[in-house]
Amino acid sequence: MITVTAARKHYGSFLALDDVDIDIPSGSLTALLGPSGSGKSTLLRAIAGLEGLDGGTVTIDGRDVTAEPPQRRGIGFVFQHYAAFKHMTVRDNVAFGLTIRKRPKAEIAKKVDDLLEIVGLDGFQHRYPAQLSGGQRQRMALARALAVDPQVLLLDEPFGALDAKVRTDLRQWLRRLHDEVHVTTVLVTHDQEEALDVADRIAVLNHGRIEQVGDPVTLYERPANDFVMGFLGSVA
Ligand code: ATP
Ligand code: MG
Repeated sequence: MITVTAARKHYGSFLALDDVDIDIPSGSLTALLGPSGSGKSTLLRAIAGLEGLDGGTVTIDGRDVTAEPPQRRGIGFVFQHYAAFKHMTVRDNVAFGLTIRKRPKAEIAKKVDDLLEIVGLDGFQHRYPAQLSGGQRQRMALARALAVDPQVLLLDEPFGALDAKVRTDLRQWLRRLHDEVHVTTVLVTHDQEEALDVADRIAVLNHGRIEQVGDPVTLYERPANDFVMGFLGSVA
């Protein structure tokens, strides 16, 4: 379980996170949903440790990580515009986290093969990122993030730059991957349909505050206020 308590974050005088409290259950796929500028990325980056907080705490499985650097938090990330190592093959990109940890070669080979199969990129290991489609690159990014067995996977609009058909396919695929791997996942999105379709829990953000947290059906059928109703209600 990830627990964020009373998180506050200012950028200058602008309050980006305003006393945010949220529990993210272990093994869940939780979406942070809200309009542009509502604080989704800031909250995700605070969980990751990429952004310091002005107040509040972050705990992961009961361990207070508020003061810990990102690399000690046991987290894998994937961002919208994923920066792959262009000069490395798919295989070496996926293996990267294991290679720098000096894992045995045989272990790395097996792990990478397994992951490439899970993300549907077996047969692509000798290609370079430039030889992949956008969706394939994002799947490579997910394999790379999963390679080090993170306790938590943080995804910031990972499919945001892709066209609608590929986005829909990838979110179905993410759901199946999550059902298989069960890693606690937090998905940032501004797309109501994506959140309703893929997440078991949705936290709706607005102006740095959490308006409501619940399962998709509850949010859709019993929105806590006009903002949640308006935001979810705009699904076509
Ligand atoms: P989007 O959907 O557009 O990615 P978001 O919900 O992820 O939006 P954040 O990136 O968390 O929003 O930003 C929240 C607010 O904080 C925004 O108003 C943004 O302008 C501001 N902000 C974010 N990062 C900085 C920064 N480094 N310096 C100043 N203001 C920032
Ligand atoms: Mg963002």
